[in-house]
Amino acid sequence: MYVQFVLFFYLFNVKHSLADLFFGILNGKSKQFSNVSPVILLRDSVLLGSLFWKTIIETILLTQVKSLKVWCRISTLQTHWKVIPFEMLPSWVKDNNFLHNGHRPPMPSFQACFRSIFLIHTETVNIWTHLIGFIVILVLGINYMFIPEINFVNPFQEKLAISLLFVGTGLCFLFSFMFHTFICHSERVSRIFNKLDYYGIAFMIVGCFLPWLYYSLYCSPVPQLLYLVVSCILGITTIAVSQQDYFSKPRSRPLRAGLFLCFALGSVVPVVHVALVEGFFKAMTVGQLGWLCVMAICFLTGVVLYACRIPERFFPGRFDIWFHSHQIFHMLVVAGAVVHLHGISQLQEFRSSPEGGCNADAVL
Ligand SMILES: [Zn+2]
Repeated sequence: MYVQFVLFFYLFNVKHSLADLFFGILNGKSKQFSNVSPVILLRDSVLLGSLFWKTIIETILLTQVKSLKVWCRISTLQTHWKVIPFEMLPSWVKDNNFLHNGHRPPMPSFQACFRSIFLIHTETVNIWTHLIGFIVILVLGINYMFIPEINFVNPFQEKLAISLLFVGTGLCFLFSFMFHTFICHSERVSRIFNKLDYYGIAFMIVGCFLPWLYYSLYCSPVPQLLYLVVSCILGITTIAVSQQDYFSKPRSRPLRAGLFLCFALGSVVPVVHVALVEGFFKAMTVGQLGWLCVMAICFLTGVVLYACRIPERFFPGRFDIWFHSHQIFHMLVVAGAVVHLHGISQLQEFRSSPEGGCNADAVL
């Protein structure tokens, strides 16, 4: 590669045509280069261009080889442990008996748990789906906060409402990533991160629902405030219930799914309210209820699969590493969050459009 750099500069300096033309133009002496042959110019341009792109491609390839070496080094650091079958797991980490093999053994070291995210086991996809989801939400959230204020009717309130969506969803993904990474540490640490994971789910439901309430009942402040307060109370109640130790036991799986489902379904009342006042068609299109429904379908499907442990229930041991219910649940949650984000950004655009003003008999 260094040889190419040398060649690049040799060509640039010795072949006077291009170099002289370039510096000549810089110095305002382009007239004296009018006698440079166009054929020489073309030849030198092609040579320089091909050398430039070859150098760029080789630099990228070299970086990839270096990354691969770092990856291999990280992976070989953890060869002192091997994945174990479900029966060998201690009771505090036993959760899904349809996943027969590929479990991490208990590793009472945060460093070892973190390094394990680069290896293949039952939690790998759970970890990466929400880590990638967190990074995407973080980037989109930062980007959203820098949208010029001229695009908003009420910049402070609107940015605050939308930031709740980013914060709620981002915290859910971050806590989930941490839980799945450190669940194998020890009973105490796993219990702490398990509760943090439930916090995250409650934050996400509240964070998704509040911006929708804010925009959908924008012209009707009293019901808007009422629903906002009720949603917050439901969120706090869910967090309080989920902190009980029995809640995180494997046998409480239907209870967990049911509680978060009831909490999410609490949003049906304001949705029906908006649909009745604005009419079904306007609520579905302008009010973005269509996207809210798509998000609800993603979440509901994910929760049902998670609670019933489908598909591994029907093929025990076949979905240990890829596509077991928890992974599908994670993917559907990320998809639902992205869909909802799209719906909220559409609502925000409508609010700042000429038709977005408030009428006397409208809530939207
Ligand atoms: Zn999870």
